[in-house]
Amino acid sequence: MNNSSIFSLYFEFNLNTIHPQIINPANQHPNLKIYIKKDELFTYLGKQFPLQINLHQFKRSNLIFKNGKFLASIHYNLSNQQQIRIIETLFEKFYIKITKEICYKTLPLLQQVKFQNFKLISIKKLKSRWGSCSTKKNLNFSHRIAQLPPKVQYYIIVHEYCHLFEMNHSSKFWYKVSEFLPDYKELRTHLRKFEKL
Ligand SMILES: [Zn+2]
Repeated sequence: MNNSSIFSLYFEFNLNTIHPQIINPANQHPNLKIYIKKDELFTYLGKQFPLQINLHQFKRSNLIFKNGKFLASIHYNLSNQQQIRIIETLFEKFYIKITKEICYKTLPLLQQVKFQNFKLISIKKLKSRWGSCSTKKNLNFSHRIAQLPPKVQYYIIVHEYCHLFEMNHSSKFWYKVSEFLPDYKELRTHLRKFEKL
């Protein structure tokens, strides 16, 4: 498989599963008691989307992304603080799930190009790093990868995967990155706008 076909597989996966599109902020039902700021937008795949909250009678809460907006269902009888905490937890779980899906789909594609074994893939609530690669060949990724544009996500996964070949940032390492991603420099600069890798 060559580089351009991994790109197309990668983007096809993102587009087919996620269908990002920007829509106008959702109209909330005027009678609902919602404490989350009405105009707050949530980042996903490098874009911002509105959140619509449905209050229901069940204790169980959930969050889905559908037709260009987030839909959260939570219990109707919650305080302001409880609502905010539940919504935050729902988003963390959502980002973990999506990042996991992206990593599990992408890493085998990279292995088809240049094989390297790894042990575990873990998605963690990392705030200060996007990813890391341990000497034991475990790959760790931040759940916030789901918030980034697809090409930047791809760069992070390639970056950590290449550390399995070279555990440093030597010219050999960057050469390896360029084999998967010829325009990596541009993406590395783009990522710096978000935070350091
Ligand atoms: Zn690195």
